[in-house]
Amino acid sequence: MATQDTATDGVSFAEPEEWRLVRSSLDEFVEREVRPLEDDLGESWSNPRVRHDADGRYVDEALEAIETVRRKSAAAGFYAMNLPQEYGGEDVSNVTWYRAKRHVASHGTGLASHVLAGPEGPKPLLANAEGDQVEEYLKPVVRAEKSTGFAQTEPGAGSDSPNMQTRAERASGHADGDEWVLNGTKQWITNAPYADFLQVFARTTPQEEAGRYGGITCFLVEDDEYDVGTLNNAVGSVGLQAEVHLDDVRVGEDRVLGEVDDAFYEAMGFLSLGRLELGAEAVGHANHLLELGTEYANDREAFGRPIGTFQGISHKLARGRANVDAADALGLRLAWQMDGGEDAIQEASSFKWFATNAYWQVADDVVQVHGGNGLSEENPFMDHLHLARLLRIVEGADEIQLNTVAKQMGVQ
Ligand SMILES: Cc1cc2nc3c(=O)[nH]c(=O)nc-3n(C[C@H](O)[C@H](O)[C@H](O)COP(=O)(O)OP(=O)(O)OC[C@H]3O[C@@H](n4cnc5c(N)ncnc54)[C@H](O)[C@@H]3O)c2cc1C
Repeated sequence: MATQDTATDGVSFAEPEEWRLVRSSLDEFVEREVRPLEDDLGESWSNPRVRHDADGRYVDEALEAIETVRRKSAAAGFYAMNLPQEYGGEDVSNVTWYRAKRHVASHGTGLASHVLAGPEGPKPLLANAEGDQVEEYLKPVVRAEKSTGFAQTEPGAGSDSPNMQTRAERASGHADGDEWVLNGTKQWITNAPYADFLQVFARTTPQEEAGRYGGITCFLVEDDEYDVGTLNNAVGSVGLQAEVHLDDVRVGEDRVLGEVDDAFYEAMGFLSLGRLELGAEAVGHANHLLELGTEYANDREAFGRPIGTFQGISHKLARGRANVDAADALGLRLAWQMDGGEDAIQEASSFKWFATNAYWQVADDVVQVHGGNGLSEENPFMDHLHLARLLRIVEGADEIQLNTVAKQMGVQ
């Protein structure tokens, strides 16, 4: 007879020993390296008003703490463990990466959320680095010695990003003819204020010639070559995003990442991974909130009894449990499909949409369970509500995910 640890009819949700070891070392790392830093920082970490300067930028001590967490995590082999070993990663499967992302998120929105690489870290697109780019850009980012960002969105092009207006033209008149000149404005670029370099998307061949998704190239642009404009302070992510101005930025051919004119197709090849990661974070955060909500519902009394005995409260938590479990099952299946070499476009959109909406509903319900305390700045619940709302827009908004699902289903 099949045991719980073996696949029955090809289906298994068993957690292998390898993952259990990763999980317990991640927990040890958070307790040993991350919590003491948070304690030392005190209010400059926990209070958003103190964590940012008057412009909204992170204060130096908060930035240093984030960098310390990333570097120590990289040294311990966690930070970019999904990347190939040849670049300094650990080559773990998508299933393990999904579980790790989910698990770290269950530690809350504090410094622990910087243990695993996010938008500032190495993405598979950067693994297109060749020649000197590997030592100059890719490996330092894997070691968390440098940070980067992905600059695609513009004031006039978000969901419709192939419509970008940023241009890169081959320098005319240059002796070697091997320079590109970039002009344009990006916005909402995560980590732009602090990055060492950005991966900037620019149109290199007009749409009429190259088609909608062709004709776009990715360039590695250093921080002293672009100007950081106004911070785009999103509620839930203050201090992290900014406008980027590219004003006659001249870069050599050696700064082209991947193939000229092919960047959009190359990036589309990694869409499912981005959606897997965001959904994993949503599931992890929601799990954390459900734990906090359950504890509070059992402790807090009203009308002489624990509020958890009122169905108006218990059903909120039960509905959250059911939705988050369903999201988790979608996430695990998606990661497993990706490990099998599938693009899983429809499943990635279904998962990202479902998981972030489940998180949003849980965050709202858990604020309600906590009553006035749910709204207190002392507690993390409103931070979660803001973050959950934000996750329903970034990496493809709800509507774009549903468009993708409908298209993949064959709905006209
Ligand atoms: C916190 C944060 C971090 C970000 N980080 C980055 C980053 O690092 N790099 C980067 O390049 N970008 C980044 N972005 C930008 C993000 O990717 C865009 O905001 C997102 O793609 C939506 O684009 P938009 O804001 O221009 O909205 P729009 O595209 O203008 O959309 C507005 C509304 O219309 C809907 N809509 C648009 N087209 C359709 C359609 N065809 N069918 C149905 N509905 C549609 C959208 O779903 C949305 O609800 C970030 C944004 C935020 C808020």
